[in-house]
Amino acid sequence: MPAPRFLPVFPGRLDVPGDVLAAHAQPGPRYTSYPPATQFHDGFGAVAAARELAAIGTAEISLYAHIPFCTQLCWYCGCNVEATRDRSRGAAYVDLLLRELELLTAAIGARPRLVELALGGGSPNFLETRDATRLIEAIRVAFAVADGAAIGIELDPRDTRPEQIDALAGLGFTRVSVGVQDFDEDVQRAIHRIQSATQTRAVIERARARGFDSVNVDLVYGLPGQTPASVGRTLDEVIGLAPDRLAVFGYAHMPHLRPHQRLVERAAPVPGIAARVELLRVVMDRLADAGYVRVGLDHFARPDDPLARASASGQLGRNFQGYVVQRTERLLGVGASAISDSGHAYWQNHVDVETWSDAVRAGTLPVARGVALDGDDELRRFVIMRLMCAGRVDFAEVEAAYGVSFASRFAPELAALAGQHDALAAVDNERGAVIATPLGHHLIRNVCAVFDRYARPGGSGSPSI
Ligand code: SF4
Repeated sequence: MPAPRFLPVFPGRLDVPGDVLAAHAQPGPRYTSYPPATQFHDGFGAVAAARELAAIGTAEISLYAHIPFCTQLCWYCGCNVEATRDRSRGAAYVDLLLRELELLTAAIGARPRLVELALGGGSPNFLETRDATRLIEAIRVAFAVADGAAIGIELDPRDTRPEQIDALAGLGFTRVSVGVQDFDEDVQRAIHRIQSATQTRAVIERARARGFDSVNVDLVYGLPGQTPASVGRTLDEVIGLAPDRLAVFGYAHMPHLRPHQRLVERAAPVPGIAARVELLRVVMDRLADAGYVRVGLDHFARPDDPLARASASGQLGRNFQGYVVQRTERLLGVGASAISDSGHAYWQNHVDVETWSDAVRAGTLPVARGVALDGDDELRRFVIMRLMCAGRVDFAEVEAAYGVSFASRFAPELAALAGQHDALAAVDNERGAVIATPLGHHLIRNVCAVFDRYARPGGSGSPSI
C-alpha cells in the first residue's frame, strides 16, 4: 500500500450546526471492515478460511482473542458476551482456545511473526491468572512474538484485582483499555453498570505502576439520562485520570437485535439524534480544551501518543477494534465470534460459545461465515479506509495501487457527491482528491456510503452521528 501524501485532520470540535448534523444522521456500517459484516455469508466456511491461512506463511500478523464472559450484563451492551459468575467456564474456554490455536497454526503450516496481540471481550479479566498464563504461553509457542510487539487487554475495573494486573504485566502486557462509559450515578443505574471513579483510578494507577505504557478509556454518548451537564462532569473526571487515548462511541440502540437493550429504556428515554449531537459537542469541546487530538471519527489521543502520530503521518489503520496504528493488514481472531482478515477475505467464528466449542472439539476451524473480496471490493475498501482514517482520498494513490483512473471508475460516486444538497465532500480535480468538508468529517460514514456498493437507503446499523 503506498504511503499517502497528505496530513489527515479531523476537526477537534463539532463546529457545524446541530440541526444540519442531525438531518444527515442515517443508520449504516461503522466501516471497521469493507465489505461490512452484513455481507458475510455461510458459503464461506472452514475450507475457504484454511486456504487463506495457508497463504500467510511467516508473514506479520495481529492476533485478537475474544473472551466472551462477564460477571454481569450491562444493559446497553452490544458485544458478544455471556453473563456468568462461574469462573470454571474460563478454564474450559481456554482449553478450547489452545486447541483452536493448534488448528490455526496447522492450517498456516508455519509460525507467523506476531506484531500485535489484543485480548478483548466480554471481559478478559474474567480469566483466572493461571488460565490467562496458559493462553499467553500457547500464543508464544504458536507465533514468533516480535520484540516490541503491542500487547494489550481490555479490563473491567469493577472486576479486576490488583494481583491480576501484576500478573498481566509479568506476561508482557503493556497496553490496557478500560471501560468507563459514564460516571453519572443515574446513568449508571439506567444502564446497569455501577462503577466508581475510585475503582477506575485504582486499576489505571496500578497498571501504570506495573509498567503499562498506554491507557485507553472507552466512553459512550447517547445513553438514557445523559445531559450535556452530566456528560461534562464525566469528561472532567475522566480527563483527571489522564488517559493516553479515548474511544468515544455513540450508543447503538438496537433492541430488535439485542433484546436486553430494552431494559435501558426503563429509567429514561434513549436520547434522540438532536440530543446526541449536543452530547457529542460537549465531549469534543472538553477533550479539545484538555489538549487531546481527534483521531479519525471517534478516537482521541494525546498529541505525542503513537495513535495521534500515526494519524498525522498517514499510518493510521482501522480494524474491528477501531482505529489502530497500522502494523500489519493481517488480523487473526480466535474465540467465539472473533473475526479474521487475511487481506483478501474476512471470516467470523461461530458467535454462540457452544457452537464454537463443538466445532473446535471436532477438530475443525470454527468458522461460521465470511466473504472473499473481489477486485472491486479491494479497491473500494482502499478508498473507504482512506476516508475513515484521513477524511480524504487522493486519486493518485488509488491509481498507483490499482491501475485505474479514479475519475472514470468512480464517475457515478463523484457525481453523487457533487449533487449533495449540503456538501459532505468536495471533489478537488486540480489536486486530484476527494476531501471531506468540515460537515463531512463528522459524517464520514455517509461519505463512505457513497463508495459502498452494498449500501442501501434506510439500511441497518448505528446512526452516523
Ligand atoms: S462489561 Fe462490556 S462486554 Fe461485559 S456486559 Fe458490560 S458492556 Fe458488555
